[in-house]
Amino acid sequence: MTAYPSQPDTKQLVQLDASQHAPGSTSGHAAHSKPLFGMDTQDLVSLMLSVGEPSWRGKQIAEAIYRQWVTELSEITTLSVALREKLVAAGWQIGRPIIEQVFQSVDGTERYLVKCSAAGGSVQTVETVWMPEGDDGESGDGTEAEFVKQVGAPCLDSETGESTDPARPSRQRATICVSSQVGCAVNCQFCLTAKLGLQRNLTPGEIAGQVIAVLDRHKVEVGRDRVNLVFMGMGEPFLNYDNFMAAVRLLILETSLSPQRMTVSTSGIVPGIERFAQEPKELRPKLAISLNAPNDQIRQQLMPINHKWNIESVVDAVRLVKLRPRERITFEYVLLGGVTDQPEHAREVARLVRRTGLPAKVNLIAWNPGPGIPYSMPQPGAVEAFRQTLVEAGIPAYLRRPRGRDIYAACGQLKRTVEG
Ligand code: SAH
Ligand code: SF4
Repeated sequence: MTAYPSQPDTKQLVQLDASQHAPGSTSGHAAHSKPLFGMDTQDLVSLMLSVGEPSWRGKQIAEAIYRQWVTELSEITTLSVALREKLVAAGWQIGRPIIEQVFQSVDGTERYLVKCSAAGGSVQTVETVWMPEGDDGESGDGTEAEFVKQVGAPCLDSETGESTDPARPSRQRATICVSSQVGCAVNCQFCLTAKLGLQRNLTPGEIAGQVIAVLDRHKVEVGRDRVNLVFMGMGEPFLNYDNFMAAVRLLILETSLSPQRMTVSTSGIVPGIERFAQEPKELRPKLAISLNAPNDQIRQQLMPINHKWNIESVVDAVRLVKLRPRERITFEYVLLGGVTDQPEHAREVARLVRRTGLPAKVNLIAWNPGPGIPYSMPQPGAVEAFRQTLVEAGIPAYLRRPRGRDIYAACGQLKRTVEG
């Protein structure tokens, strides 16, 4: 464990040598290699048939990489040595993304720079975050175990099928924040990721691989531990729609993660929301919309995308999504001091959300500052007052707990801060 010297505010910023924590990750992957990770069972079956192997070999590979989390072809012992060698000689490797650097917060949050080098793509790092106990962002959405702050109700877990038996308690509870692109093209004025511009899309294997790498690191037991996924890291998932949804299907169908424990956040890409509305319920995450402003006038200053798709057009698209029983749409709302955090803004947001007629909740996020971004954090008290106004208007509203502030809290901040 060594202190990371080149950062401001480094007292609690700790960089770990990730290689100590990621056994089996030593091989790296050459840019010209062909990754198996990212292919689904059907693809792997086709691959095996194409090299003259029986189809069940494809299922064995899927089992090894998505359920046993094997990272080296040589370790897939269900395959014959000859087949393993044949695949390596043909340039195949598992090629799962690798956790390259680890930053630990005093609050238990871990941030990772994850190296992605899928064939054909430039080698890039993206940011993934592990937040033990969640960040409260999942409160009150009605489909999973809830940290119910408002009424102190007991945890509900009626739909995920996970054990609620106290004799066999779930061991871990956490949220993983996942990136969908390297950088982002949407250019929201308050967001550090925007400063990177869009570098490239991530592949399905690079998106799902962030999740598996982190589950592996924490020895998560799927179906027992309560781990939520939020696609709220770097990038706009709905501007990388096909790869994003392919990653979701890998995680659901190959690894058996529950779609009801997944939330995708979009800045309001209407064609993406319309496609999302066509996805079968059992193969789609829950939906969060980054509202971030009480009206179009303010929103278009903060989020230029609002010129293309205004609040009404986003809400119209959201209405097309057929919700599960008790599912709610989440509206995310970043509070910017003096800009979006005033009492009249709260009243306007309450009216706006009520007018949509959607089963909805609001997640409030106090803005996380970043270098060169000309906004300020909300005043102490403003956040709670804002929440109170919404709750009194009958809108469920929750505060996203700031996590890992000492290691650059907002998703997307780390890469920018560490790599400049
Ligand atoms: N691109 C998608 C998902 C990634 S951003 C989207 O915009 O929804 C995830 C969330 O982080 C969004 O709600 C965004 O508004 C919020 N966010 C971005 N920068 C932030 C910052 N500096 N402080 C707090 N939240 C921020
Ligand atoms: Fe992109 Fe989301 Fe940041 Fe906007 S808030 S720039 S959409 S990552």
